[in-house]
Amino acid sequence: MEDALTLLIVDDDDVDRQAARRALARSDLATTIIEASDSTAALQELRRGAFDCILLDYRLPGSTGLELLRQIRGLGVNTPVIMLTGQGDEQIAVELIKAGAADYIAKSRLSPERLSNSIRQTLRVYRAEQQAARAETQRRQAELRLRQHERLLATTLKSIGDAVIATDEQGRVTFINAAAEALTGWSAREAQGQPLAAVLPLAEAATGASVAQPTSATDEHLIRDAWLRTRDGRSVPIASHSAPIRNDDGAPVGAVVVLRDMSARMRSEERLRLLAELSRLLIDTFDYRQHLQQVVNLIVPRYADWCAIDVLLADGRRHRLAGAPALEAPPVANASATPASLGPARVINSGQTEYIAQLSEAQRAALAELAVPPELKLHSWICVPLMVRDQVRGAISFARARAAAAYDADDVAFAEEIARRTAHAVDNALLYQQAQDAVQARDAFLSIAAHELKTPLTSLLGYAELLHRRLTRNPVAEERELRLLNVIVDQTRRLNRLIGVLFDLSRLQTGQFTIARSPLDVVALTARIIGEVQPTLERHQLHFAPPATPIYIIGDDLRLEQVLQNLLQNAVKYSPNGGTIDVSLTQHHDWVRLVVRDQGMGIPAEALPNIFRRFYRAANAERRNDGGMGVGLYVAQQIVELHGGHIDVESVEGRGSTFTVWLPLAPSEARAER
Ligand code: ADP
Repeated sequence: MEDALTLLIVDDDDVDRQAARRALARSDLATTIIEASDSTAALQELRRGAFDCILLDYRLPGSTGLELLRQIRGLGVNTPVIMLTGQGDEQIAVELIKAGAADYIAKSRLSPERLSNSIRQTLRVYRAEQQAARAETQRRQAELRLRQHERLLATTLKSIGDAVIATDEQGRVTFINAAAEALTGWSAREAQGQPLAAVLPLAEAATGASVAQPTSATDEHLIRDAWLRTRDGRSVPIASHSAPIRNDDGAPVGAVVVLRDMSARMRSEERLRLLAELSRLLIDTFDYRQHLQQVVNLIVPRYADWCAIDVLLADGRRHRLAGAPALEAPPVANASATPASLGPARVINSGQTEYIAQLSEAQRAALAELAVPPELKLHSWICVPLMVRDQVRGAISFARARAAAAYDADDVAFAEEIARRTAHAVDNALLYQQAQDAVQARDAFLSIAAHELKTPLTSLLGYAELLHRRLTRNPVAEERELRLLNVIVDQTRRLNRLIGVLFDLSRLQTGQFTIARSPLDVVALTARIIGEVQPTLERHQLHFAPPATPIYIIGDDLRLEQVLQNLLQNAVKYSPNGGTIDVSLTQHHDWVRLVVRDQGMGIPAEALPNIFRRFYRAANAERRNDGGMGVGLYVAQQIVELHGGHIDVESVEGRGSTFTVWLPLAPSEARAER
């Protein structure tokens, strides 16, 4: 059943209202009826509640139904209005309809059917109109949303950094955003309708083979590293993602490709790699000069077409430490000569980075003195001071030849980072150089001093000993004078030994330390030395059981005596409480092994690896303050090695030490042994 319709009857005539009411009551419509007898009452009712339909008398007191109709519409009330007209009002029916009335019924023909038909028809039309209006509103809203969405999309595509290109089903470009225009070099107008492969020619990074273009038929597709050939012939590293565009039925109607320029990422990755390699090189440095050359070699061509490291020497001269590509460099330039307008000399003076994105001819000419290979026409230039502890130690220069690869502000920061890391290595190189110079000077002094002292001392000792012998034989010699002479002889001998050591050291340093080579029996040699040393010892016993047969080696008996003497003296010196010192000689295949074992203070574990180094003394020996120089074992090792042998030590602090010398047997002996 239909819901009851709420109707408003507006008529000043009671009879007419009753007639309408009756007709409605007799009609097949269910209705609730409100009545109003004039315009004011009608408008009041309309403000109070909603009606499905209004029956409006054309003639109202002081007004017309037409006027009221206009007022009602003026209020924004769309309720359908059926006009009730009297005799002669039909002529204005058209006007009424124009003003928004849905229908009109002559009062004279008012019947239940006529009324119900008119109301039904009116409501049907009204509802249809309402529905259409709603549909229209929805369509408008949808359109608005679509337009907004399109604007959002267009703005997004315009402002994102990624390049976006869309194609139709045939793979022809239908859309290209600003980033894609910039990346490919194609303007939107030119690209429109072009095959995608023309606008976006891609090649595989690894092989250079061209990459198939995504089509509407291709599924989602990711390319991580490919090169895009731009319209102006550049190659740009890119990553891309493409996907088909589908219609509502899921059928592909085109494709969209999103591309990202990977140059910046690749550049920063490459820089990180370069820095990491540089750091590895710079940490692991001993021969700094060679490493700095490697640093320069690493930088060219990855970061520069030309690179050089210049340092400031202590005497104020500038020195090219490393350069690439290498060219006969001016080895030393005087920093205080004509002040350079640019270049390392100026940077070393000013301590300020020098950066020129594009060198002028005059600037290029000013750089000519840098020994840049003439075929390199430098375009862009950075020179950074190498600072250590706020002191300029030199400068590192970078230059690029290609205009397309001109340095930018980013490069300057990177160059300064390289300089920071290199500066310490340069500092070390300079210190190392100074240390080398100092060592050389010391060796030269040692050599001269030893030579100059040796001759007078030899004669001094000779005469002192002669005097000593004579005085000893003289029965009237004074006891006191004899004692004084004893001291002179002892001290001169001691001085002689020291100078002997200096002499050895100097000769070892200058490569003049040689050994005689003749067959000798180490058993006899050892026994003789033991026999000589034992009587001089008070608190130590030497224990040696010589092998029954001689053991021959080829060597220098004086030098080997020096080795054994040193081992025995150490064994005595570092066993302050006395004790047994075991010496043994054994033969093992082609080798003879000499062992000297004491039960003395031993050697701390941390000192063991250094014990054969020049001037090295273990802490427990150093504390004894016995005037040792830490040279004996160094010389002993050199002598043993010159014999083709080697020397080892085993020791536990507090439990004694064992020194073992291995020497090769004389070849005939070795053969006989076999
Ligand atoms: P020096 O004895 O003049 O110091 P050496 O070169 O002969 O120089 O020995 C180097 C160092 O090795 C000594 O200072 C000492 O620390 C250690 N050393 C050598 N021989 C022994 C030993 N037998 N026992 C303990 N320490 C020893």
